[in-house]
Amino acid sequence: MNVRAGREFLALPGPTTVPDEVLRAMHRPALDIYSQPMVDLTEGLLRDLSRLFATKGKSYIYVANGHGAWEAVLSNVLSRGDKVLVLESGSFAVGWGNAARAMGAEVEVLKGDWTRAVRASEVEARLRADKDHTIKAVLVTQVDTASGVVNDIEKIGKAVRAAGHPALYMVDAVASLGCMPFEMDKWDIDVAMSGSQKGLMTPPGLGFVAVNERARAVHQTANLRTPYWDWTERDGVEHYRRYAGTPPVHLLFALRKAIDMLFEEGLENVFRRHHLLAESVRRAVAVWSKEHVLGFNISEASERSNVVTTVLIGNGYDPAKLHHYCNDKCAVVLGIGISNLQGRAFRIAHMGHVNAPMILGTLGVVEAGLKSLQIPHGKGGTEAAITFLAESVGP
Ligand SMILES: *Cc1c(COP(=O)(O)O)cnc(C)c1O
Repeated sequence: MNVRAGREFLALPGPTTVPDEVLRAMHRPALDIYSQPMVDLTEGLLRDLSRLFATKGKSYIYVANGHGAWEAVLSNVLSRGDKVLVLESGSFAVGWGNAARAMGAEVEVLKGDWTRAVRASEVEARLRADKDHTIKAVLVTQVDTASGVVNDIEKIGKAVRAAGHPALYMVDAVASLGCMPFEMDKWDIDVAMSGSQKGLMTPPGLGFVAVNERARAVHQTANLRTPYWDWTERDGVEHYRRYAGTPPVHLLFALRKAIDMLFEEGLENVFRRHHLLAESVRRAVAVWSKEHVLGFNISEASERSNVVTTVLIGNGYDPAKLHHYCNDKCAVVLGIGISNLQGRAFRIAHMGHVNAPMILGTLGVVEAGLKSLQIPHGKGGTEAAITFLAESVGP
C-alpha cells in the first residue's frame, strides 16, 4: 500500500519547489531577443540580483548551474599558479576548490570539520602566517548543504581584513541567497555567487555572480579568463553580450516572477519564515534524537542552518530505507547524506517556496517512517514542531 497520489514534495536541498506562478510565467512565447522588452527584462533582473546580494557592484547571469557559476568566478579573477585558500565546513567549498585546482590554481584547504562552522580565528591565523601574500583568494560557503552548517560570513570577512591580507574574499551563496540575510558590501565580500534552483525558487539552469571594484581590478590581469565567462566581454555594448549569446528567455521570465514574489512577501518576512520553519524541524529532530539513534550532524545549535537540516542515523540503521519509505509510500523526497555522510544521514530541506503544511507534512511522514521501520526515536517530534509553530506564529 502507498499514499503517494497527489503532488510529490521535494524536501531535498535543490532543486526546490517551483511555485505555480513561476511555472506559469514561462508558459508563453519567447521574446524577440533584440527588442526593448528583452533589454528591460535583463536590466531589471541584474539590478534586482545586486539588490538580493546587497551590493552596489554589478551582477552577471550565466546559463549554468552552481558549478558553472563557480567556474565563472574563478576564471575571472585567477591566474595560472595562483594560490587559493579553501575554508572547509562540508563538501561544497572543497568542491569549488577542486574546480580551481583543475583550472590551474594551487589549492590549500584549511582543514575543517563536518560537524562545525569555519572558525574565524583559524582563518586569521593562517592569513597572518602568509607574510608574502601568496594566497590570492579565500573561498567559503555561507551554508554547506551537505553538512547543514551555516558559516558566519561577516565574522570570517572581518578576520580576513584583520589579518591585513589583500586576498579576495569569495562566497558561495547557492543554498542561502533569498533565504537568510546576505550583505555583500557590508560584510566586505569581493565576489559572491549563487544559482536559481534553491532559495530563488526558479528551475535549475541559471548561475549568478556579483562583483565589487576590488575584484574587478584583479580581473584586469587575470589570465584564466575565457570568452564565455568573461566579465569584460559581458559588459560589451550589444545586449546579447550579457549572455554571450542567446538569452535563456524562459528561465528569465521565471526568475522575474520568483524575485517579484520574494519582494512582495518582503525579504524580512521571507527570512523569518525560513527561521521559524527551520526551528520547527529542529524541535522535531531534537525529540527524535532522545533514543540516541538519530542526531544532529552539526553539534552547536547556533551553527545549524535555516535552509537544511542534516540528521545522522547510527546503530546500523540505514537512511536509504527511510528515504525509500518517505518517497515510495508518502511522496516526500528527502535529501540523502552525500560525500562523507553517504549512508550515514538524511537531510530535510526547508528552503525556498515552503510553508507550514509542507514542513509539518514532511515531519509527519518522517515520523511515520521511523515508526514503520522501527527505528528507535523519541516520541512526539512532530508534536513539538506543532507546539513551537503555534507559540511562535501566534494567534
Ligand atoms: C547546490 C550547491 C552548489 C552546486 O550547485 P549546482 O547547481 O548543483 O551545480 C554549490 N554550492 C552549494 C552551497 C550548494 O548548495
